[in-house]
Order: sequence, then structure tokens, then C-alpha cells
Amino acid sequence: MYYREVKVSTETELRWAALYGLAWFVCAMVALQLTEGADGIAAVWPSSGIFVAALLHLNPRGRNMVTACVAAASFAANFSAGAAPLASLGYTIANLIEGWLVFSLMGRGQSKYMLLARPLNLVRFAGSAVIGGAASALMAGVLSRNFDTIFLSSWMSTVTLGMLIVTPVILFLLQDRKHDRGILTFRGFWIMVFVILTALAAFGQADVPLLILPLVAISITTAAIGLSGAVLALLLVATIGSVLTIFNLGPVGQFFPPVEQQVLFLQVYLLALLVSTLPVALSLARHRRDLDQIATSNRLLENAERAARVGHWRHTPEMPAIYWSDEAARMLNVQHLPRTLEELTQIFHETDQLRVAGLMATALQSGVPLAFEARIERDDGTTSQFECRTEIELGADGRASEVFGTIMDVTERAEALRELERARERAETEAAEVRILAETDHLTGIPNRRKIIGRLGVEMELAEAGDQTLTIAMVDIDHFKSINDRFGHEVGDMTLVKVSQVLEAQLQRREMVGRLGGEEFLLVMPGNDAQQVRDRCLVLADALANLDWNAAGLERVTVSIGVAQYNLRWDESQLLRAADDALYRAKHSGRARCVVYEELEPL
Ligand code: GH3
Ligand code: MG
Ligand code: MG
Repeated sequence: MYYREVKVSTETELRWAALYGLAWFVCAMVALQLTEGADGIAAVWPSSGIFVAALLHLNPRGRNMVTACVAAASFAANFSAGAAPLASLGYTIANLIEGWLVFSLMGRGQSKYMLLARPLNLVRFAGSAVIGGAASALMAGVLSRNFDTIFLSSWMSTVTLGMLIVTPVILFLLQDRKHDRGILTFRGFWIMVFVILTALAAFGQADVPLLILPLVAISITTAAIGLSGAVLALLLVATIGSVLTIFNLGPVGQFFPPVEQQVLFLQVYLLALLVSTLPVALSLARHRRDLDQIATSNRLLENAERAARVGHWRHTPEMPAIYWSDEAARMLNVQHLPRTLEELTQIFHETDQLRVAGLMATALQSGVPLAFEARIERDDGTTSQFECRTEIELGADGRASEVFGTIMDVTERAEALRELERARERAETEAAEVRILAETDHLTGIPNRRKIIGRLGVEMELAEAGDQTLTIAMVDIDHFKSINDRFGHEVGDMTLVKVSQVLEAQLQRREMVGRLGGEEFLLVMPGNDAQQVRDRCLVLADALANLDWNAAGLERVTVSIGVAQYNLRWDESQLLRAADDALYRAKHSGRARCVVYEELEPL
């Protein structure tokens, strides 16, 4: 809550104590003068209320100070009004006792704020005031040895009413009147003028009975202004009514000639006003405070939403339209905020609409929370990505009784994720390109040595695992050096490209050819035995022979081939050496031929 006790300095307490003492004295003098020796009879004794307010307001030191001030003021007022010194002392003691009794009956830890904040406290305060008034009257009677019942009852009722009317006014004016400051406005001023006029009209003449008017005025004040208006209006009516009655104007003197009866009537009248107004005023004040608190909570929620960039919406079947929080409305930025759930699905981008509608329909039926991302197209044509969450409460009839949703603009996040994805794809493509480059022979475009040897390793493992055949063929162009020498390096290069193309064209599934270096190639042919590869090599030699070499000025280009079938006991270099060995034999037995490595021969 907003109530707070403020620590005040001794100096401030002293000032307050002096102010209360002075107010006590002035009010007492006015009341005594007005009663003009009517033996202490006054309609209201405001000073009693001032003292109780002071005790409830100040801290322990301030309470002691104000007690001293009130003691001096009471003695001075009574004495100057003609009471004997001993009687003045007696009245003074009675005045002090009434205040302190009410204060202690209100319990420890009471603050001025709590008195008005809780209706039960107000009831307790009323009871305390009655007891305080009675005790005060008894004490005054005992000390001044005046046991006249009229004196005693008048003392008690004036003191009690003084407390009941004045204490709440002072405490209320001291309170942080954040929730009820209508009294300080132009409207408040005119309402008070109205109250004064009704009081004057009711108590200033006796021809027309208008005593009900102030009650009406106070009710209007209460409704329009609240607690502060109620207590101030009450104070005004009490003062005007008492003063006019004392001057024998108005109806009270006419109806009840004896002074005691006038006083009694006035007191009952004021009490009736008090009882009929204060509870309403109090509940109004609480209501306004609650509204203020709700407004504050709402403001905090809006702030939090703005900071978190999350908006919310709410819908129940009873609501005429969907409620959108400020932040949600700001994020959507559409001219017409959706009012129904159907309209809500329609604000999504065309391509997302069906999906969102489907999701919503399922969620509304099952009551299962929903979370999805979808795009919303604004009036200005911009599109944003939103993360939407929905909580659904199902009623007893199984239909959605409350739908609560949050929306969050995740365009930036989605864009960042997309950018990240694009960057990843780029990096992957580049890496793949680099890998291909690193594994490709730049002249012929077929796998280079690193790649073909790597593949050989893989195929050897597979052959071993599956107990399958694997055969390799090492192909070397015959007299290549002389091609270079005779026709130039470019023709040599062209020859390498052509041979590599023929080799590649011969490949079947899972087979691979690579350039080992120079004019030497390696064929890796899984699933073939030496004989099959030999047959294939003959086809290959034919294809090479059938190429039109004349265009390059060459007569013909032949190759020598060494074939070796993988023996599962061999390692990679042994297999390569076997093929190389066969190739060596092909060269030495006249070139342009294919030789299969014989296992019986030593490696
Ligand atoms: P043999 O029949 O015994 O295989 O004789 P050869 O001349 O083909 O073999 P040798 O190893 O003596 O010569 C290979 C030549 O290949 C030597 C080198 O200049 C040439 N060479 C190597 N790489 C390239 C290349 O990328 N382009 C060209 N044009 N020539 C190359
Ligand atoms: Mg060679
Ligand atoms: Mg050669």
C-alpha cells in the first residue's frame, strides 16, 4: 500500500505540537464564548478532536509536547472563561485524560493512515471516542465536584462529537490525499459553497423546515468528492448549525426551547449525518484507491511490455471486442485492431492465414497452449514476423471461456536467423568448392592423386569387410615425352585431357579414375577381378585407338596398363606396387598393352 510513516525531526514535532496547542486553545475559546456561560454546554467541543488527532499523528516525543501545550491551553481557556483555578485544573485534567484514553484504546502502532484505511478501525475509534467522552465527563464532574446530569451528559456528548467529527478531518487532511483531492478543485469549492448555503438555509430560519437539506448536500459531496469532502462538509454543517442555534436563529431553538434539548437535538442530528455519510465516504475512498492501484499496476505492466517488446491481448465471450494492450497495438500498427478471433486470424499474411486459423481452431477446442510464428502485414505494406503464444481456458461447457495471448515482434531475430542460415550455406558451398578443388586435377578435371589414393583406401576397406574383389589398373601414356618434344607442351596437355576423358567414359558404378601425376592414371574398380579389368582395358585401348588424333597432328596415342587384383593380405603400397610392377612389364614387353600382375611373382 501507499501508506508510509515519515520520520520527522524534533523541531518539526515541536512545531506541530505548538500548532495543535494553539488550535486547541482557539477552538476552546470560540466554543466557550459561544456558549456564553451556558455552563460548558456546546454542541461540539472541537478541541477534544484536535487533541486526539495530535496524539495519533505525532511520535512519542511529539505526543509529550502536545500534551504539555494542550494542558496550558486548556487551563488558560477555562480560567479566562471564568472557571475557578481548581475547576480549571480539573477540566484540564479531564481534557488530557479524554485524549490519552482514546489514543490508548486505539491500540499501539496506530497511525493516522490506518485509522481511515480500515472501516473496523473507524468503528473502534467511534467506540473509543464514546468511552473517552464518558471518562472525561466523569473526571470533570469529580474534579469540579459538579455531578449535575445535564452537565455530565453535555460534557460527554460534546467531547465525543468533537472527536468523531474533528479527528477524521485533521487526519484526513494530513494524509497523502493522492486518491481524493477533489476538494481542492474548482468543483470542490462550489460544492462546499452549496453545503454552506444549505446549512444556512436549514439553520438560519424557522419558517420552512429544511433540516433535510444539509443531509442531501453532504451526500452529494460524498459522492462527488469522497472522504475529504464528507468530513469537511460535516464540519461546516456542525459549525454553522451550532453557531446559528446558539444565536437563537433557526428551527432548533423554536422546537426545543430548553438549551439542553437544543444541544441534544443538534448532537443527534450531527451523529445521524456522521453515521449516514462516513461509511459511504470511506468505501468510496477505498474504491478510488483500488482503482488508482489498478491503474498503477496497468501502467507498470505497460512499461514492462514496452521494455520487453511483448504485447498482450485478451478475449472472453462476454467482451464486446478483443482487448489489446498499448504495446500490442503499437507493434501491430494496423488501423483497425482485430475485434474478434476471426478477424485476428485475418491479420496474418495470406500465406500464413490458413495455418494460423487451423492452429487456433485446434487450440480453442482442446485448450492446449499454442505457440507459433507467423507474419503480419501492416497497412503501410511492411511485414513483420511475430511470435504468438496463446493460453486458453475452457469453461464447463467445453468452450473457450477466456483466451489470453502474447505477441512479440521477432522480425529482427528471424532476419538474423535467415542471414545466419544464408551465411552457413555460403560457407558450406565454399568449403565444398575448396574441397573439390583440393581433390581435383586442375588440368584434366578428374580426381587428383590425393583423391584417388583416398578412394583406393576406402574401397580396400570395403572389399575387406565384404570379402569382395577389387582390382586397380595403372595407365601410362607411351612415349609421352616425345609428344611434348615434337608437338609442344600444349599438345601434350591436350593429350592428357583426351586420355582422361576416355578413361572417365569407361567408368561404371562406384569406379573411379584419377591422375597419379605426369601422364600416369589410376583406375579403381571394385567388384571386378583381374580378368574382368583386363577385358575392360582392351575395350579402353580400342577406344583410345579409335580417337581422331590427327586433328592434333598426332598419328596415334597408346597406353600401357598394369592391372593388379587386391590381395586381402596386402596394404595399399603393396597393391600399388603390384600394379606398377605389371605396368613396368607392359612397358618392357613393347608398350601398348595390358599386363596383369601375377601373384606368384615376388613383389
Ligand atoms: P614411356 O613410354 O616409357 O612412359 O615414356 P614417356 O616419355 O611417356 O615417359 P617419361 O617418364 O620419360 O616422360 C614423361 C613426360 O611427361 C615428362 C614430362 O615432361 C611430361 N609431363 C609430365 N607432366 C606433364 C604435363 O602436365 N603436361 C605435359 N605436356 N607434359 C607433362
Ligand atoms: Mg610415366
Ligand atoms: Mg609414359
